[in-house]
Amino acid sequence: MVDTNPTSPGHVLGVLRAAGPLTRQELQERVGVSRATMVERLDVLRRAGLLRRVGHRESSGGRRAELLAVNDTGHTALVADLGQSHATLAVVDLRGTVFARAGHELSPHDSPQETLSRLVETGKSLITDSGKAETLCAVGLSVPGQIDHDEGVTAAPWSMREWDGVRLRDPFKEAFDVPVLLENDANALAMAEYYAMGRPEATMVGVKVGTGIGAGVVIAGRPHRGETGAAGEIGHMRIEGGDRRCVCGRRGCVAAEASGRALVRMLRSKGVRSVNDVVRWVEEGRAEAVDAVSAAGRLVGTVLATVVTIVNPRYVRLGGAIGVLPPFVEALRRTVEANAHTSALRKLDIAASQLGDRGVLVGMSGLVADEMLSPARVDAQGFR
Ligand SMILES: [Zn+2]
Repeated sequence: MVDTNPTSPGHVLGVLRAAGPLTRQELQERVGVSRATMVERLDVLRRAGLLRRVGHRESSGGRRAELLAVNDTGHTALVADLGQSHATLAVVDLRGTVFARAGHELSPHDSPQETLSRLVETGKSLITDSGKAETLCAVGLSVPGQIDHDEGVTAAPWSMREWDGVRLRDPFKEAFDVPVLLENDANALAMAEYYAMGRPEATMVGVKVGTGIGAGVVIAGRPHRGETGAAGEIGHMRIEGGDRRCVCGRRGCVAAEASGRALVRMLRSKGVRSVNDVVRWVEEGRAEAVDAVSAAGRLVGTVLATVVTIVNPRYVRLGGAIGVLPPFVEALRRTVEANAHTSALRKLDIAASQLGDRGVLVGMSGLVADEMLSPARVDAQGFR
């Protein structure tokens, strides 16, 4: 049961999170309870290890009042960015500080079970080595597919078909005995930008163009997932006139023309072998790669113009190895400006993500913090 009492300990923590640091008296006034009630609420939160003292405020009577803040540094999480060919794991605190991280190339020959148990083993040693085993409160996994949040399974991208329906939470739950959160990688990227900007009251769209293509929408500080977790899955929309065969089996998808995988295929005859090669060729200014990446930016921009017109976001942030390349960003921006409704463009700010490969990890640590410090979770004593 969710405690909807607006003066519960969880809600007090929520007020402190949004407005802190605050003194006990300031909290009392904001929440609207008596001194005795607030003392009791703070006691509950202190015992759960959710408060920390951050100094004093001089009051008018010359007395020094203790300033309280949410203890977001005393709890840690294991977060992982599971990609189509690479995974990154990190131990973070609820503020996003990274204590340890490790990367893994994923072999297409390994079964999902083999891959997951390797990730669990890596996670265990990261946590042990960082000395954070005692404070671990959650695991957060970002995955490149749609997620059924009730069942904890994914509808994997077509290129990872054997991952379809895999129960991702189970091996982590078993190994660490903490809540396991799942999020789509483009949503995690969009949330990362939202957190990095200091939680603006603005709608944002994150677009990730790496091996595949996906988008995430953040509305009112939450990822908009849609009815079946498919919101933002722009990679497998079919485009007029496209005829290339896609990994999903259909023809003419955006991903068949504009993803990292598609670019590698188009440039293979010139000697490109990987998405990293595409990035390097663009950085070296080789015309064939710059032209192909610009064409990809125009195509994704065409789709995004529709998204921008429907969602009317303030910020569009582009991530992924291809998505941050300047020719891609420029071509996409020009196409959106040419095609979206003019009033949807008035406040629109399109830019490459500055978070680099930390982006998804930052997003996951923020999502874990939002969940674990939420009134419902705190009042249900989700903390050990
Ligand atoms: Zn497709």
